[in-house]
Amino acid sequence: MASYLRLSVTDRCNFHCLYCRDKFSKKYISHKDILRYDEMLRLVGIASQLGIGKVRITGGEPFIRKDLSGFLETLRSKFPEIALSITTNASLIGPCLPVLKNIGLSSLNISLDSLDSKTFANLTGKNDLGTVLSNMESALAMGFKIKINAVAIRGITDLQLDQFLQMAKVLPVDIRFIEFMPLGRNTLWNENLFLSANEIFQKASRQANLLPVVNKDKTSESFSGPAKMYEVQKWKGRVGFISAMSNLFCERCNRLPITARGALRTCLFADKEYALKGLLRNSKITDDNIAKVIRQACHKKPLGSELMLKKKNISIINSQMASIGG
Ligand code: SAM
Ligand code: SF4
Repeated sequence: MASYLRLSVTDRCNFHCLYCRDKFSKKYISHKDILRYDEMLRLVGIASQLGIGKVRITGGEPFIRKDLSGFLETLRSKFPEIALSITTNASLIGPCLPVLKNIGLSSLNISLDSLDSKTFANLTGKNDLGTVLSNMESALAMGFKIKINAVAIRGITDLQLDQFLQMAKVLPVDIRFIEFMPLGRNTLWNENLFLSANEIFQKASRQANLLPVVNKDKTSESFSGPAKMYEVQKWKGRVGFISAMSNLFCERCNRLPITARGALRTCLFADKEYALKGLLRNSKITDDNIAKVIRQACHKKPLGSELMLKKKNISIINSQMASIGG
């Protein structure tokens, strides 16, 4: 049974990252089809009864959803035992940081794929690198632990590795390079842009003496698996590598992604969904009924590694990451 719920609170986003979204489409799910906060709270309650101990809030960009802070406060007070975490592009978090601190959130996962403002703007469609960096610095000053996720893209990450390493040298942040995955239609994906975790590791190793860190924290997995983390003597931060493609971790996968539409997906690499929203909105359906559906879905969980082989890495699913949440 899974132990980690990934809750996508919206498919909307103020960025249009080329590796994540369909370049030809800006269509969003209509408001009535998005799970309401009360429905999410009910779902978390059911998941908690099933033994789920960790919830990650994701999106789209979670902070674009109205009154996310209020929702997080309620989530925290109703389920104090659940480990809560958030993945964000960090462009909108500034005003929300005090609330996040108040509810006891200790770390933030920030997606940041380029430290060059032009490349950042080209990749995300927004000229917001300065805001992201300044929000990140505010979060660090308030004591949040920061994990940066950078999608590894050939021609970008390899050319900007120096800047990322310099950041890890001077700031107490974990920078984790994640392999580019062929998810969704009409994204930037192209086999030639794939840069393996091993290749970046080799390049980084030539520039710094990377010493492996033993991972004792079993909850520190990113959406795509555990990061192999390295430290360097006298550096404030660390660097890590996530082989989301070259070393799939399906056998150990413990996550249950819920899409913004309120559908349960049991594998990132399969389009199969279990529509929970209809069940949540049907007054005759009990929590036990929904729990049963979730349990059965988990038993039928496919192995993404096998699906990947069948599709030969070409756009393995139709849904884009922004609607699944990862
Ligand atoms: N908007 C938030 C953000 O960017 O952090 C949360 C949602 S975003 C879909 C979650 C994660 O998915 C981000 O870290 C992003 O880098 C990652 N992602 C999106 N598309 C990807 C792809 N094709 N390959 C690898 N990671 C991807
Ligand atoms: Fe938005 Fe995050 Fe996708 Fe970028 S990666 S488009 S910030 S959802």
